[in-house]
Amino acid sequence: MASDYESYRIEMLRRFEQQHNDAEQAIANHRQVQARAREAIARLGSPPPEPNLCPDCWYEHSKRSPLKPADSKDGMIDVFRCSACGFSEERRA
Ligand SMILES: [Zn+2]
Repeated sequence: MASDYESYRIEMLRRFEQQHNDAEQAIANHRQVQARAREAIARLGSPPPEPNLCPDCWYEHSKRSPLKPADSKDGMIDVFRCSACGFSEERRA
């Protein structure tokens, strides 16, 4: 039978192992966020590589989605919409 001292040691070991694993996971998550931000910062340093790309899709996800003309209720304004994310932009006709 394990002594109280030994049980305490094993319980404490498990607790620190859990803290260690939780910290590893948190670090991995932060690294992912950091890598994603680094890539977005690089893209945001210049205009999109093609005209008429959805800015949300390009800058946030590095995805090339064209903005396409959508129905506009106002004849003075043209509306362009991204079919991938729904972003829309109004431009003077
Ligand atoms: Zn989009």
